[in-house]
Amino acid sequence: MKTIGLLGGMSWESTQGYYKAINEGVKAKLGGLHSAKIVLVSVDFAEIEHLQHQNDWESCAQILLSASLNVQSAGADCLLICTNTMHKVAPTIEEKINLPLLHIADATGQTLLNANIIKVGLLGTAFTMEQDFYKGRLQDEFSLDVLTPNEEDRAEVHRIIYEELCKGQLLESSKERYLDIIKKLQAQGAQAVILGCTEIGLLVKQEDTEVTLFDTTAIHAETAVDFALS
Ligand code: GLU
Repeated sequence: MKTIGLLGGMSWESTQGYYKAINEGVKAKLGGLHSAKIVLVSVDFAEIEHLQHQNDWESCAQILLSASLNVQSAGADCLLICTNTMHKVAPTIEEKINLPLLHIADATGQTLLNANIIKVGLLGTAFTMEQDFYKGRLQDEFSLDVLTPNEEDRAEVHRIIYEELCKGQLLESSKERYLDIIKKLQAQGAQAVILGCTEIGLLVKQEDTEVTLFDTTAIHAETAVDFALS
């Protein structure tokens, strides 16, 4: 079994989900007392969030690069950046490490193609919903037609992520708001919706809606398990 490297803490609320899902995935495949070999380096999310909102992506990249090199020297065989948003700086990291980076948008794009989805809604931070590093990658590499909520709904999805989900607050009112936005995306023609922020799956579950959801935390964790056992 290979060792999975996790760059976590963005936020730690969702990194716990990675740890659990990866271990459950290995247990499901190997049975018995088997569990995953994992190296985790976790950052202080307050520093990252501050730099993101200052638009200082270069400093974010340097912090994450240094943490990724620690993951590498601790013996990992691959690297997962446990957040969709911070894949904005993935190219800087990928260039300097000697490990395969299992990109969350690629894992998601491939899963959607396997499910024959071509038109999909995307929920995530404003960075993820509005910038090319993520939405553009799904469109260019996987020929997906990606729909995002209107400006007001995007702002609300973003606010709930940083003010609530990353602090572990799961409010019923916010869940209803997300479900309403998911329905609107379906009405616009989305065949499914990507939970493109690793905390959204903590709030919104598949059983809450008839719309098919693709949870990026679960997809990314499954990709890691496949890699580790291949
Ligand atoms: N975990 C979130 C994501 O998947 C947001 C936190 C962050 O800015 O990294 O995008």
